[in-house]
Amino acid sequence: MRPTTPLDRVAGAHDAAVLAVARRGDPVSRAALAQELQVTPQAISKILGRLMERGLVEEAGTVGAGPGKPTTLYRIVPGSRRAIGLHLTRSRLHSVVVDLTGEILERREIETGGLQPVPDLIATLAAQTRSLVDVGPGTLLGVGVGMPGPVDGEEGVYRGTSDPDPWRGAPIRRLLAAELDLPVLLDHDSRAALVGEAWSQPGLLRNAALVLVEDGLGAALCIEDRIVRGAHSHAGEVGHTVVRLGGEQCPCGRRGCAQVEYRAALERGDEELGAQILAEVVVNLVRLVDVDRVVLGGRTVYEQHARSMDAIRDALTEGLRDEPWVHVEVMLSTRGTDLIAVGAACEVLEHKNGLPQLLFGADDRG
Ligand SMILES: [Zn+2]
Repeated sequence: MRPTTPLDRVAGAHDAAVLAVARRGDPVSRAALAQELQVTPQAISKILGRLMERGLVEEAGTVGAGPGKPTTLYRIVPGSRRAIGLHLTRSRLHSVVVDLTGEILERREIETGGLQPVPDLIATLAAQTRSLVDVGPGTLLGVGVGMPGPVDGEEGVYRGTSDPDPWRGAPIRRLLAAELDLPVLLDHDSRAALVGEAWSQPGLLRNAALVLVEDGLGAALCIEDRIVRGAHSHAGEVGHTVVRLGGEQCPCGRRGCAQVEYRAALERGDEELGAQILAEVVVNLVRLVDVDRVVLGGRTVYEQHARSMDAIRDALTEGLRDEPWVHVEVMLSTRGTDLIAVGAACEVLEHKNGLPQLLFGADDRG
């Protein structure tokens, strides 16, 4: 396969932009696409031609009465492609199959019984994937894995912590791809979650933070329509920002990190303090990166979401009271506990359908 060139990436980004509009469901005309994407109708024709050739888009009849040629409409073909998404935690594996629009065709969940050695972990991931490979129509593009960090999505490696951690340094993407003979993409759970949420709310999350509260506490950032990775693939690690000097010991080596303080508050039954810590983390994040939407997701936050949302809204009102022109909307994820698995699958669909490769990391199979 020839290497990807900058021109391929531009073409891929155009294809992905047209698919993103088509994903919303209603058939669209060439003119409407040209206007929305600010490119010429001739360019849209070329893009539609490419997408139809690949079976991703099809004609959906015509509209228009009166003189002149009727307008042809186009729509996405949901069943043309699919992807499997796996959400791995230390004790659980949640998996989904989604179609080209991100709709779930099937979901499964198993308990893994704690931290397995790496070979057993890969066997578990592979077995779960194999149980889903025949679900749904269309071509299976690959498998996306979302897991708690630190994860290097570019390298496909789980970096791990200094705690005894059997997964530390494991090249999960390479091992799983070799085991399955399928393309695999590995990413941080919060970044997968942000992609999943962005697919659910197209066009809304241009400057947004997704704050994920699972076993840990993390965030992913979309700034000016780009999901930010950072120099080491660690952008958004708010769980390791200090909220109390000299506080609880964190596995990362520091004291008083938001993640351990939040967890300790919940373990003491002090849900109010937990919500306040989360709220301070969000205000700090908003201060730092100037987003206008904050989406809350993850299992733990669901259990506490009313209290958490109230605390965050109060803290933002208080923290931004001298800047009434700054509006930040706080929302709960629309994807429930499927969020990360769906997001990991959507990353595969995006990766395979043209978004710039560097955004999602190359798979090992080219
Ligand atoms: Zn820490």
